[in-house]
Amino acid sequence: MTARVLNDGEAVEPLKICMIGAGGFIGSHLCERLMYATDHSVLAIDVYGDKISHLLQPGQKWSHRIEFHKINIKHDSRLEGLVKTSDLVINLAAICTPADYNTRPLDTIYSNFVDALPVVQYCRENEKRLIHFSTCEVYGKTIGSFLPKDSPLRNDPAFYMLKEDETPCIFGSIDKQRWSYACAKQLIERLIYGEGAENGLEFTIVRPFNWIGPRMDFIPGIDGPQDSVPRVLACFSNNLMKGEPLKLVDGGQSQRTFIYIKDAIEAVQRMIENPARANGQIFNVGNPNNEVTVRELAELMTDVYCKVSGNARPEVATVDVTSKEFYGVGYDDSDKRIPDMTIIKTQLEWEPKTSLYDLMEHTLTYQHTTYAEAVKKAMSKAIVT
Ligand code: NAD
Ligand code: UDP
Repeated sequence: MTARVLNDGEAVEPLKICMIGAGGFIGSHLCERLMYATDHSVLAIDVYGDKISHLLQPGQKWSHRIEFHKINIKHDSRLEGLVKTSDLVINLAAICTPADYNTRPLDTIYSNFVDALPVVQYCRENEKRLIHFSTCEVYGKTIGSFLPKDSPLRNDPAFYMLKEDETPCIFGSIDKQRWSYACAKQLIERLIYGEGAENGLEFTIVRPFNWIGPRMDFIPGIDGPQDSVPRVLACFSNNLMKGEPLKLVDGGQSQRTFIYIKDAIEAVQRMIENPARANGQIFNVGNPNNEVTVRELAELMTDVYCKVSGNARPEVATVDVTSKEFYGVGYDDSDKRIPDMTIIKTQLEWEPKTSLYDLMEHTLTYQHTTYAEAVKKAMSKAIVT
């Protein structure tokens, strides 16, 4: 039995957690936290297990608490049985890379809505608590983005701050297929909320705001397909390791707030261990203090990468590309994402800690150590052949 993260005076009984999508970026960090720092057990479900292979080696002190099930939840009858034997289900499984939203809208909608339906259904039928991963993208564009460019109201938080229980969800037109992901995530949120209201499902919905850190996505041609486009951290890391300019989509004017994965995992542990405080809630999980434009992010990553790698700063650090060139037709963007933190602070007494500089230093050190040699080798092989 471990001490509860929040001190409500009770110890935490060890839980059996069915974690779907456990082999992904967030899942791998959550499994690590649960194995290293708690007594909970994990039934880890995913089609890939590479990012948690270090936890699955036999003979470790947590080995009896983690089991990997290589299952595609689209078509596998074993899922229901695993839900039945658990105390809590956490669903992380999704297609969640923007390059897919406009180019593979059907796979995106099926993955984020249709494939999540049986998970919700099994939780409701078997009275299991569900923590479901949604996204900050359900907010879409800010109200302020529709104001004239020079309107002073754009600086008023009422026009950009994203609040779970107040802010509307504003998406582009249907031909802007970028919003297929946000729309599917919004509908599954509404369904889960409805199951809570009508059928008593115990649920928590998580809206991550750009969580980043080691093991996020893949480096094209090294541990992922050469022609795929990962999220911005991996795109820029790849550019830096290859010594090529970082590509700024549509001028790099969009703004994001980035949070270090380890801070965010602390919030999820609090949700797991404090059901009375987390049930029925939708939580923004982000770091409002770490806001940058994508252009500023590129500058910062270039500086930090030069420091951790010892490389000289390139003469041309960035290059502009249009979204049509980079992502194809139907791309659109969220302009600004600042999470309101009132609900999570009140319910879970949680706040993020790590500055953007520090999280980037940890993360780019990892990227350099893990990939730089392999990228160099792949580049010299390409020159020879
Ligand atoms: P990820 O792609 O690294 O992890 C998702 C995992 O789900 C992958 O390992 C994938 O193999 C698995 N998966 C997908 N479909 C599956 C299926 N049919 N059967 C079994 N496994 C399947 O992504 P992540 O960054 O870890 O994101 C996890 C969740 O958080 C997703 O729901 C995503 O939408 C949400 N989210 C993440 C962020 C972020 O900042 N990382 C932001 C917003 C939302
Ligand atoms: N982006 C960019 N260059 C890249 C990759 C992404 O300018 O090489 C931009 C993208 O257009 C978006 C932001 O970076 O404005 C963040 O993109 P990401 O893929 O991380 O996901 P998002 O935050 O949009 O969900």
